[in-house]
Parts: sequence; C-alpha cells; structure tokens
Amino acid sequence: MMAVAEVIVDVPTMQTNRPFEYEIPDSLVEVVIPGVRVEVGFGKGKRKVQGFVMEVRDHSDFTGKLKPIERVIDVKPVLSQEMIKLSYWLADTTYAFQISCLQTMLPNVMRAKYKQFVVASEGFENDADVKKLLDNQLTLEITKDTEEQTLRKIAKLKRAHKIDIEYVVENQANSLTRQVITTDLNTDQLLEAKDKLRSNAKAQHNLVDFLLSHHDDLPIEVSNLENQFKITRATLKTAEKNNLLKFIEITKRRKPVGINPERTSNLELTEEQSTAVKDISDSIVDDKSDTFLIEGVTGSGKTEVYLQSIQKALEQGKTALMLVPEISLTPQMVNRVIGRFGDQVAVLHSGLSSGERYDEWSRIENGSVKVVVGARSAVFAPLDNIGLIIIDEEHEASYKQDDNPRYHARDVAKWRSDYNNCPLVLGSATPSLESRARAQKGVYKLINMTKRINNHALPHVQIVDMRNAENSAVKGDFSPLLQDNLWRVLKRKEQAIVLLNRRGYSSFLMCRECGFVLKCPNCDVSLTYHKNLGKMKCHYCGHEENVPHICPNCKSKKIGFYGTGTENIEKQLNEIYPDARVLRMDVDTTRRKGSHAALIEKFSKHEADILLGTQMIAKGLDFPNVTLVGVINADTTLSISDYRASERTFQLLTQVSGRAGRAEKEGHVIIQTYNPDHYAIKDAAMQDYETFYKQEMYLRHQSGYTPYYFTTLISVSHQIESQALKQSFWLKKQLQTALSDKAILLGPSPTMIARKQNKYFYQIIVKYKHEPKLHEKLMEILNDTQGEARRGFSIAIDNEPQHID
Ligand code: ADP
Ligand code: ZN
Ligand code: ZN
Repeated sequence: MMAVAEVIVDVPTMQTNRPFEYEIPDSLVEVVIPGVRVEVGFGKGKRKVQGFVMEVRDHSDFTGKLKPIERVIDVKPVLSQEMIKLSYWLADTTYAFQISCLQTMLPNVMRAKYKQFVVASEGFENDADVKKLLDNQLTLEITKDTEEQTLRKIAKLKRAHKIDIEYVVENQANSLTRQVITTDLNTDQLLEAKDKLRSNAKAQHNLVDFLLSHHDDLPIEVSNLENQFKITRATLKTAEKNNLLKFIEITKRRKPVGINPERTSNLELTEEQSTAVKDISDSIVDDKSDTFLIEGVTGSGKTEVYLQSIQKALEQGKTALMLVPEISLTPQMVNRVIGRFGDQVAVLHSGLSSGERYDEWSRIENGSVKVVVGARSAVFAPLDNIGLIIIDEEHEASYKQDDNPRYHARDVAKWRSDYNNCPLVLGSATPSLESRARAQKGVYKLINMTKRINNHALPHVQIVDMRNAENSAVKGDFSPLLQDNLWRVLKRKEQAIVLLNRRGYSSFLMCRECGFVLKCPNCDVSLTYHKNLGKMKCHYCGHEENVPHICPNCKSKKIGFYGTGTENIEKQLNEIYPDARVLRMDVDTTRRKGSHAALIEKFSKHEADILLGTQMIAKGLDFPNVTLVGVINADTTLSISDYRASERTFQLLTQVSGRAGRAEKEGHVIIQTYNPDHYAIKDAAMQDYETFYKQEMYLRHQSGYTPYYFTTLISVSHQIESQALKQSFWLKKQLQTALSDKAILLGPSPTMIARKQNKYFYQIIVKYKHEPKLHEKLMEILNDTQGEARRGFSIAIDNEPQHID
C-alpha cells in the first residue's frame, strides 16, 4: 500500500496554489502526518522547497510517478486540523496564496531557520524509553542527519506525551545565555566622557549619543545593537576599554516584558452586566456559536463582562481568546486580564521579539495556557477547545490586515467560533455599522449596556465653533473656553487629556515665499520631520534626507515647518501653562519598546497634568482623575476621502470623550471644530450612537455602500503610469463580463497617493449585492496576470476594504 501526502509548497504563484501529491517513503510513514512541514523536490531541477502536509491518504489518482518526500522538518505538527481547514477558507476569501495564509498563522520563527531539541516531558525524565532515546543526556538535537529510525521513535514517544519538542531559533540558538551591554555612567557622566573623546573617534561619539538616547532602555542585547542599530562589536569592545560600557551575560529564559499586576477577583455585577454574562454563559454551556454584539457606553463595565464570561469558559474546561486593537495601546486591558487569570494567560503582540513570540506560541500550543490576549494576528492562536472568543473595540480598523492575506480578524473569529461551537462576543461603545446592522437583522444578538457603572453621568460635552471663536482670545490652537477649563482642571489638581486629531503627516516643510513643499522623490507625499532623527522622512518608502535650510526651489530662507503637529501643540501648552506638566504621546515618543506603557504609567500616577496625544490616546484608557478632554481639531478625520469618514470621526470623538469623568468626578469634554453642525460631531457630543447609526445608515443606503452593498477594491500598479492605466481598463472590461447590471463599477481612478515606491496605483471599486460569478472571475484574473507580475505589474484585491484612498 502506498502512502501519499498532499502538500502545499512554498512557491507562491497562482499555478502552485493547490496541494501537490508526494509519496511518503515507508521509512517516514509514522512521521509524515497532517500539519508537519516537509522538504520536497519541486519542478524539473533539483530544487528543494518547504511545504506543509495537509492530508495523508493511502492512494493516489495520479497515474505517473510521484516524487517522494525528502525530509520531515517537524516531528510534531505545527498546524492543527482546525488551522489546516482554516487555511483553505482564508485563502479562498482573501484571494491570497494558501502558502501565505499558512505562514501568517505561524509565528515568524517558523519561517526562520531553527533547531529542534527533544526533551523529556514533565514526569518522564526517568522513563526507560525516553532515557534510551536521549542517551542519558538532557536533550537530543534533531538534524538533517537524524536517522529515520530515530525519527520514528521520537514521533511515537511524542504521541505518548513522554517527550516534548523545543524549537530554538538558529541565530538565537543559545537563547538561554544572552550578551547585553549596560553602563554605570549616568547621563551627565556620559556627556563628560563624550567631551573627552578624540574628535575623530566618530563611532565612539555616535555610540555615546546612542547610550544617551537609550539610557532608559539599558541593558540592550548585543545582537540587537548589531542587527537593528548597526553598531559593531568592535565599537562596543573599544567602548568597553574606554570604560563607557560593560558586557554582561544574562542567563535567563526569554520572558515577555514583566507585567505583574495585582490579582483581582470578580466584582459584583450590575444588572446590565449580569444579564450580559448570563446570555453569553448560556451559549458557552450549550456549545452554541452565537455572535453577541455588546453595545455599551464608555464606562459601562464591558471588561468585567468579558472577564466573567472567560471565567465561565474556563470552568467548562475550555479556553478563551480575546482580541484587542493593539496591545501596546491597551496595557490596562491586558493588566486586567492577567490580574484576573494570572499565569494562565499568554499575551501575543507585535512588540514581542520573534523569540518571545515563539515562546508564547508554544505555551499556547502545548496547552499550558488557557487564555490568550492579543492583537489581530492572535486570532490564529493555536488554542484548542475554545469556549469563547471576544473582540474588544470591534469597530477598529486595525483588525483588518492591510497586506496579503487581507483578512479581517472578525471574520476569522467567526469561522473559529463556528468550528469550535462557541460564542463570539463583539464589544464596542461605537460598533461598526456592519455589525450594528447585523444585530438589527437578528444575525447577531444585541446586548445593550446603557448605564455607566455607579450611574456616573456621561460627560458634559460642549462644541466650540472655531469659525467664530473670538480671535483675540484664541491662543494658537486653543479657544478661550478650552483655555479656561484647562486652568480650572490644573487648579483643582485634576488631569486633562488633549487630543490632536491628525492624519499623521502634518509636520511637513514648506516655503512661505514660493509655496514649495519638500516631497519624497519616490512617492507623491510630503516628507515628515522626525525630531529624533533630525531628518525628513517618507512614511511610505522610508526615504530620508536632511532638513534643508534654504528653499531648494527659490533659495529663500523662509522655509519652515507647516501644519499642527503634537510638538507644536506641546509648545503652545508650555507657553500658556508654564507650570503644568505635559506628557506628549505620539509616534515619536512611543517608538521604543515599552515607552507607551511607561507614559501611561506615569500619567496614571499623576506625574503629569496634561496628556497630549494623537488618536492613540483615545482608546480604552481608564484614568479616574481625568475630568477634562479637549479635542483640538475634530474635523481632520471628516475630510478624508473615504465613505467611512463620518463613522471614523464619530467613533474617535465618542471614544475620547469617554475618557473623561470615569470615576466620582464629573467629566467635561470640549470639541473644537469648523463643522459644528455636522451630524457626526453633534451625535458624538451627545454620545448618541443610535441616532448616528440611523443617519449614517440612511446615507450609506443613498450612496450604496456597506452595509447595503458589499465592496471589493481592486488596485493595479505599475512603474509606468500609462501601463497601470491601460491594465486597469482591461481589468474593468474583464469584470464587466462577469457582473450583472446591478453591480456598480467605479473607476479606474488614481489612488489618493497615486505614486508609492515608484509605482503608480489605480483602483477599481466594485459594489454589489449578489454577484455569484465575481469570485471566480477575480480568481481567473489573478491567474491570467501571473506572468505580468514579473514585468512590474501587480494586482491587489481587497474584500471589504477598511480604507479607500
Ligand atoms: P468600558 O470598557 O465599558 O468603557 P470598563 O470596563 O473600563 O468600561 O469599566 C469602567 C470602570 O468601572 C472600571 O474602572 C471598572 O473597574 C469599574 N467597574 C466595572 N464593573 C464594575 C462593577 N460591577 N462594580 C464596580 N465597578 C465596576
Ligand atoms: Zn517615499
Ligand atoms: Zn521657495
């Protein structure tokens, strides 16, 4: 009898986007099982590629001779049955290659080279078979040369749970001992030492500058310095001789940043909370894959509902998965979950090094973790027996991945909820229109939480019409009303949050003589000033250059920064309130690992009076002493050319308003705007989601957008603009042949930033209600354009895009 494996190979093309059959040699029969990775020959030559085994069968319908599997990479599957099934669905719905989907599900480490070691499972250290296999050593490394006979033994012991396999990334193979550097000098002493350096000792000067700017981050791993900061070991050695720094060997297991919040226990639930917990618990106990939408005003205690529902799942012997928009932005939420469930929790987020991420992944995979909290990609956490999935702030755009595969975590979560027969809970004070509409139709079960805990009042919101704010009293960007109220807060020793709603690239350089704007040579965007680098930088391609002091166009000296950045507002605050302690939170001040949490910590300890920041301060923060929230320019998000502009504005304003008055003291919100009559702003001021929802639904209906229509965005790019345009017209024609006359085709039109990384982008939008042939047609188009890809042409398909620009 012949054994055959179906393998998805790591050759990302349309032609290879399906399982290929390989013969399993007799010697590997017990080792090649679904979910392991293998090495196989591919194509005519001697090329060897990696692949994932999807299925194992005992016959093949193929009449020719099958190639054999050359080698097994894993002795235990890295993908569960669930993940294998999910990958088919994911590839199909996102138009991505299945291999990309499989790789997306796994931690990066799995893509890198790593070593595998066999270790005894707990309690089996003295098992005779285990001891024999390990040859009385602690570990056994599995390599290319490990004999098949040994592999079979390993697989067998693994199935008996007597051994475990540990992966160690090859370049971190000795991850148990790490070399770090630190310094005994404080910053003054460093500055002194810098003065003493020879002026031509460039590398040493740079190193001291580095130590100064990263003083708080020390110790830093040497490998990090080498890889990330391009500081050579030789430079470090010299610095060691100069007594600037010292080397230390750390022998500790990698562990994610030490968060160790106090343990908490269940709070006594309010009536609204307890109804919510009861409904969700019933679904958990009855193994029902219901989707609940909790529409709960800010401060209504959604978190406690999540926690007690998770507890219910754990009591049932099940696990729970909880997604948050972005871990680094929500440290308080993570602390609450860890505070309740302690060691049973794993946290997955992008801030982890690949080693740390892998460690967390394995803890989940081997069942030592019951609760996973993480951002978007945590939706692929290898949890078994899931009893509950939660998505907090379900309306957040960050749940949609911008790159291939372009999946929405909500859809993946729904799939897993169906697979595991467990409920999915979506929570938000400002649900996405799609979700709220589904609740309307009864597809989701709506849970309303309308009251704040302890019946705290919702904040009192005032709108300031900046069109006729008395000009003499306006200081910089601050209306008299906002100024006065900030004074009052400071006098009462309370705290305030000031939100600068900005689009991210507002501090650009402009000549006031001729209007010249410094732009990226590769992309159609203005370069942004980065203070830390002291350079102008492109957000798209990373191009950077020095700050010019005279206008490159007219040679005038009147070239300067334009637009209101956070730094500018910070300066204004310092001028108006010289004694206030202002904490600025934006991309610049939070770039370093852990700095975001540190700023939040500082603010919650009242070591600052005013927290000034961009969108990142709007979400999920809970500071009892904050009584005032000021919004500098509410309109920015309204002016984006996206049909979700109103929705985004409403969400942002409501969320940030919800930061005020969360405890005993009443909250006050001041929104400065040039569009005081816009419904998104007025409804946000009233914290009135339902009114906003009705108005917005009406407009979406009029303009034919989500949730009334499905939307698919197809973008075409090419280095030559005329080619990009030509291809997009061809594409449009192709689509027309497959669509009914009820579908609406928009475009092709250039994207808002028409050129990125030296490529021109055009897009076509398809709006439709029911187009059974669309999917197939898009697949066909992808197929047909494969060959073109090599000539610099590419197509991207985005189902239900979060941004249209
Ligand atoms: P939301 O996420 O809905 O904005 P939170 O979950 O942050 O609200 O809850 C707001 C505040 O109320 C938090 O400080 C929380 O600890 C507190 N809280 C929640 N539920 C209760 C309860 N049942 N009894 C007392 N305090 C509660
Ligand atoms: Zn660029
Ligand atoms: Zn000029």
